[in-house]
Amino acid sequence: MTDNLHNGVKQALIEVVDIKKSFKKSDNQDLLVLDNLHFTLREGELIALLGKSGSGKSTLLRIIAGLVKPNSGEVRFCHQPVYAPVPGMSMVFQSFALMPWLTVLQNVELGLEAQGVPPAERRARAIKAIDIIGLDGFESAFPKELSGGMRQRVGFARALVVDPTVLLMDEPFSALDVLTADNLRSDLLDLWNEGKTKLKGIVLVTHNIEEAAALADRILIFGSNPGCIRSELTVDLDHPRNESDPAFRKLVDDIYTLMTQPEEGVVAIRGLRFKTIDLGYRLPKVEISEITGFLEAVHTPEYKTKADLPEIAEELHLNVDDLFPITEILEIMRFATVEKGDIALTESGKQFADADILQRKKIFADNLMNYVPLARHIRHELDKDPGHRVSEERFLAELEDYLSHEAAEEVLKIVIDWGRYAEIFAYDYNTGLLSLENPQ
Ligand code: ADP
Ligand code: MG
Repeated sequence: MTDNLHNGVKQALIEVVDIKKSFKKSDNQDLLVLDNLHFTLREGELIALLGKSGSGKSTLLRIIAGLVKPNSGEVRFCHQPVYAPVPGMSMVFQSFALMPWLTVLQNVELGLEAQGVPPAERRARAIKAIDIIGLDGFESAFPKELSGGMRQRVGFARALVVDPTVLLMDEPFSALDVLTADNLRSDLLDLWNEGKTKLKGIVLVTHNIEEAAALADRILIFGSNPGCIRSELTVDLDHPRNESDPAFRKLVDDIYTLMTQPEEGVVAIRGLRFKTIDLGYRLPKVEISEITGFLEAVHTPEYKTKADLPEIAEELHLNVDDLFPITEILEIMRFATVEKGDIALTESGKQFADADILQRKKIFADNLMNYVPLARHIRHELDKDPGHRVSEERFLAELEDYLSHEAAEEVLKIVIDWGRYAEIFAYDYNTGLLSLENPQ
């Protein structure tokens, strides 16, 4: 949206100033979720916040909206500090909580009722919002009569009916099927570009790379643990963007490159960069079948030396939330290296892909013991214990020094899965005991 801008300096709409946010963990320790968050949304801008799930994007959006208080730092909306929800900002969520007993029109009017707008004006404005978002004809329908896409349009209408200056969107398209999402995306873009509303700025939270590339003027790439802005890309492509245009593909490649750049613990070995992790590292939630399937898919003559991640993602129908956990564990376990949006298998990755079931377990066990400290630690403790049995509770307690209770449970479950597959230890679901029963 460059055409309806005033000349000269663009006004700051939202200023996010040094935001820090932590949540209490169960044991009175704090979990730092956002650190050093700092950026400005200017008039005419659509910013995409792009990051993996759990990186704190929703928390940040809620802080901007005045729904959650930061520990320190400040949000300003049109130069005024935000302490609570303000009329100029509306939010669209992934799935909109519509009142099932109210019609579309009544659902849209709700937002205005809260503002004390008189009934006649409410109706007129709701009808206009419904019209703008392409819902006319459905005014008297009830939510249950609508498809997911139409319901989300009601969500948009409800956000727009208050004539907001800024629209905050938290993954608004991710619960929709591909075509419906595309359709709604382009309608939103039209509405924005043609200035049919009073909107002056949009912040879109997404984990979808292509979506960020298709919509945003600026992309802020989030890092995790704690959430922070790792990099920023300004997009100079006109709308509507053609996804097969080389400049668009280059943009997508650049985003992949930035997103797969290791954040920490990188070691270089014989010119290859690997990631090393510590005991309490938040391991990505990946199933053995995903690791195996991915290695098999990449180890084909088609991808002789390296594979382009966007291409692989498309071929395997993976979105980034599925793809990046897999590439991350492959890097950690040194089955692959990821650089500049390309993935290349290591010798060990190729051996694994070529091996039979038993050999695969052996290779996996070696790499797990070498590169995943938690797996190694569990195995050592079991070796040390006279009866070779240890309760999972003990490891859980250890992990809680690093992670929240939920995250610790998840990480332990992941490593137990991998360890059982690799046969480096056994686990009894009923007693919660880890042991060396079957492994030698
Ligand atoms: P994203 O939207 O990027 O997936 P979130 O902002 O939802 O990330 O969450 C970031 C982190 O903060 C996660 O580890 C999540 O478990 C934690 N978190 C979010 N909300 C709360 C809360 N109300 N209490 C405790 N932890 C929370
Ligand atoms: Mg979220």
